[in-house]
Amino acid sequence: MEKIPVLGLGTWKAAPGEVTEAVKVAIDAGYRHLDCAYLYHNEKEVGVGIQSKVDEGVVRREDLFIVSKLWCTCHKKSLVKSACTRSLKALKLEYLDLYLIHWPMGFKPGEVDLPVDRSGMIVASNTDFLDTWEAMEDLVIEGLVRAIGVSNFNHEQLERLLNKPNLRVKPVTNQIECHPYLTQKKLISFCQSRNVSVTAYRPLGGSSEGVPLMEDPVIQTIAQKHGKSAAQILIRFQIQRNVIVIPKSVNPKRILENFQVFDFELSEQDMTDLLGLDRNLRLSAFPIAENHKDYPFKAEY
Ligand code: NDP
Repeated sequence: MEKIPVLGLGTWKAAPGEVTEAVKVAIDAGYRHLDCAYLYHNEKEVGVGIQSKVDEGVVRREDLFIVSKLWCTCHKKSLVKSACTRSLKALKLEYLDLYLIHWPMGFKPGEVDLPVDRSGMIVASNTDFLDTWEAMEDLVIEGLVRAIGVSNFNHEQLERLLNKPNLRVKPVTNQIECHPYLTQKKLISFCQSRNVSVTAYRPLGGSSEGVPLMEDPVIQTIAQKHGKSAAQILIRFQIQRNVIVIPKSVNPKRILENFQVFDFELSEQDMTDLLGLDRNLRLSAFPIAENHKDYPFKAEY
């Protein structure tokens, strides 16, 4: 497996009208890893940005690491390949570098991303992620994707997958929410001990509905000491834990800023102080799915 570039561009909530330019700016700045998903409904516009940089000769396709994710309404084995080819077509690609099961939970199939019942709770499908995984493995064998992985799996779910009889292809990463208010120490150490890399999503605490993580006084003090921004501290924090990190921005200045993280180092004390901010604060708790049999966040980690 090729290596996953440690820093990638997130694309959730990147508006279709803005994301093409963001992708172009990011590739020019040196980003080689793009984190996409069917759910973000902007893969077509991401694809335009990729295509234009490949056409200009700025990068070759093989130098990029492009990730997409299988949405929960497509967990049925018979739906996995068409979901993947739909993302490939939108992105104008012949293969993905990595395809993830977006959540361990299967939802009722159909065009509605979040099928809910009268009480507003998710309607599940009767699928099991171990079966979904078999269809994911087929994508690797058929050459549509180079590697596969998971997202939002707790350690019990990941363990169950790793222990699956006749596992043909191992998951290469578990993409999880991670930042100093949700440091994920136990889950990261579990994943890394099983040779599954970790990718941190929401590393900056997310957008306006998130928490004002970047204003935290401890983070601000560390930022001032290094002459860096709070965002740069939060990104570097993950890199120094051997965690892949995918901050999202559509703002050219911030896209560049978020890549300037290879010219300084956080001290051991800085890392300890950042880890000390943990308060088990989960922003992506997905409450409407909490009755699902595979809801991941009831386990301790
Ligand atoms: P992030 O933690 O990356 O925060 C993004 C927000 O921070 C945006 O509002 C952005 O605004 C702002 N921002 C970016 N850079 C800076 C900066 N330097 N200074 C100040 N503000 C900044 O949140 P996301 O939730 O987007 O997570 C990152 C990515 O992870 C997603 O885009 C997606 O690809 C992935 N993800 C995966 C999930 C999963 O279930 N697997 C769930 C959630 C996210 P602006 O764009 O205006 O710069």
